[in-house]
Amino acid sequence: MEIEKISAREIIDSRGNPTLKIYLETRDGEFTAGVPSGASTGEHEAIELRDGGDRLMGKGVKKAIKKIEKKIAPELEGLKTYDQKEIDKKLLELDGTENKENLGANSILGVSIAACKAGAFCNGIPLYEYIGKLSGSENGLPRPLFNVVNGGSHTGGGVDFQEFMISPDEGSFKSNYFRAAEIYGRLGNYLEKKNPMWKNIGDEGGYVPELKTPDEVLSAIKRVADVDLILDVAATEFFEEGVYKMKTGEKSTEEMIDYYQELTEKFPIIAIEDPLEENDFEGWSQINKKLDQMIIGDDLLVTNPKKIKEAIEKDSCNGMILKINQIGTITESLEAARLAKENGWEIIVSHRSGETTDSFIADFSVGVGSGFIKSGAPARGERVVKYNRLLEIEEEISI
Ligand code: PEP
Ligand code: MG
Repeated sequence: MEIEKISAREIIDSRGNPTLKIYLETRDGEFTAGVPSGASTGEHEAIELRDGGDRLMGKGVKKAIKKIEKKIAPELEGLKTYDQKEIDKKLLELDGTENKENLGANSILGVSIAACKAGAFCNGIPLYEYIGKLSGSENGLPRPLFNVVNGGSHTGGGVDFQEFMISPDEGSFKSNYFRAAEIYGRLGNYLEKKNPMWKNIGDEGGYVPELKTPDEVLSAIKRVADVDLILDVAATEFFEEGVYKMKTGEKSTEEMIDYYQELTEKFPIIAIEDPLEENDFEGWSQINKKLDQMIIGDDLLVTNPKKIKEAIEKDSCNGMILKINQIGTITESLEAARLAKENGWEIIVSHRSGETTDSFIADFSVGVGSGFIKSGAPARGERVVKYNRLLEIEEEISI
């Protein structure tokens, strides 16, 4: 099966910003992909191509559409859909830059995802199984992490830490998902009783209570459920002039590490993502040595094999967030997963705060056999479409 035509359109994402939808046509059907977009983006992520200027606050993607239709499509049309490596190699050659600023990581990723879906179809196997073949990994259902309280840059004026996640560990994906939905509901009721405004939500569907400190948020969650907790601090977002500027005052790197230790002694925290700023590999090594929890690199690693190698050398973390749009192609994302696994790291496949209703990362997480997935709250269409897809996969795999 060959690629016959590639086109794209501008759509709106979950945050109200424009993004790309890609259409890849073959003799046997059309395959589409929606492209996600972050807010607390890492400094070293691959670059999204946006229009600039006044229209749609500069965030339009018409330039990206032009690149797809005029530069990418003519070169990819005629290629076999089952040759993901060749397709991605061609995309990288056409772009020719280190950070994908020429064609844009958004254009490149959309085409790479759509091609991957077409490749699975022409092999006559489910998408997760096809990704498993590409990655050489065993398929497996990930343990879900649900973001129930939003803060940082996913809110207007919420608590400093960006994400407070819960992860029931009751066995099947389905039981964890439904338990999380119940806890989410109970937490909503609890917060609403304190103040009806506290039940309002942020970009990823978690509540935004007017609580000042992470302790207060964790205590609120603890009141409604005894459940494993995960933090995404996204610390770079409040790191200024060499210190961490929080609403309750400033902290040095050492003070931040001590603070995390205190929190882990009070609450059942199993992992901390981005505890320190994204360029401080040495500080990360200190916290990784000091705490028993999983220390997860997101902005630190940006799904980039070069950064991952540096973190492995310096022993800066023991787990990785895998965001396909941080690096731009499926092949490079699989390479990042392989590196992480070879070094015994945990992998959390992740959505972005700006999402579409494309459920691709659900299949991707099963295909690479990641231990975990995070896709926001167990609420909101663009978040639950991934979790709901995992329900289907779990049922299919267990037959
Ligand atoms: C994150 O930081 O893990 C995240 C999902 O947020 P964003 O997409 O804004 O980077
Ligand atoms: Mg993060």
